[in-house]
Amino acid sequence: MKTHNTEPVIVCSKCLGFAACRYNGEIIPAPYIEKLGKFCRIITVCPEVSIGLPVPRKPLRLVKVKDKLNLIQSETEIDWTDKMEKFSREFLDNLGEAHGFILKYKSPSCGMLAAKYYSSMEKGSVAGKGPGLFGKAVKERFPGHPAETETRLTNFSIREHFLLKLFTLARFSEVRKSGKPKDLIDFHSENKLLLLAYHQENMRKMGKIIAAQKQNGIKETIELYEELLIKSFKTGASHNSHINVIEHAAGYFSEEIKKSEREYIEGLKSDYRGNRAPLSALRSVICSYIVRFDIEYLKRQSYFNPYPDGLVEVSDSGKGRDLRHI
Ligand code: SF4
Repeated sequence: MKTHNTEPVIVCSKCLGFAACRYNGEIIPAPYIEKLGKFCRIITVCPEVSIGLPVPRKPLRLVKVKDKLNLIQSETEIDWTDKMEKFSREFLDNLGEAHGFILKYKSPSCGMLAAKYYSSMEKGSVAGKGPGLFGKAVKERFPGHPAETETRLTNFSIREHFLLKLFTLARFSEVRKSGKPKDLIDFHSENKLLLLAYHQENMRKMGKIIAAQKQNGIKETIELYEELLIKSFKTGASHNSHINVIEHAAGYFSEEIKKSEREYIEGLKSDYRGNRAPLSALRSVICSYIVRFDIEYLKRQSYFNPYPDGLVEVSDSGKGRDLRHI
């Protein structure tokens, strides 16, 4: 099956297992991020320490006045907004290649969502929720890139969606760097079933973009292709789309196997449809036939091995079912 030699770059909040830099001097254990570090290059950042705040420190709070978010330190009431906005801009300007982000949930600086917005410095004046200042800058600068919080990644489906996008975008970076039409064609071919599951319409459009490469030039072709690639993973794939891909793949060997084996696959499909079996169970049965019948085309499909096996974990907290990127 497809092997992985790409190393995605992830930007991670430093307090998630890397340094005791939280306002209260604590570090948050993050074993899964530690595991990701074996397969990815992790760039850590603590925006609050980077703008000159000490550890420990009085916590910060986001105060929304009209439409403007202000980052104010409780008790001292010092306004850190300008410094944080300047740091975020400069950090992201100088970041270079980044394929994904894991940022601390609810933080007024790093938060990608659910940071509390207050209407004043008074207690109990929560007026809404949203991203923190650094998290907001990331979302604006890298729209559509995989970006999650450490808590959402405990959900199996969200984690799988994050990893799949992360490794696909990292593989695509190699195509962008090489700028060779052949590499783009190979990428499209190897990700065909993945794209079929996630966005059939875009998959066709991407094929047309490649076909028009001679007229548009490779640079523009790669830009147009990447735009659609990112959009294709905006939401997760439906059960029906996955079943469609599984049936497509099974078409390569179904005539070669026994009736009882076909019935077993049908049973698994029905269990998956009814949420009684995970997609991975169905996928691994199909993989066993791909290996048994040595089907070269399917062996190269990223759909059957979208990220390294070492990152597969079946645990699921059940938290946060929304697969849309945040
Ligand atoms: S959430 Fe962000 S700013 Fe706060 S301690 Fe962690 S890394 Fe630093």
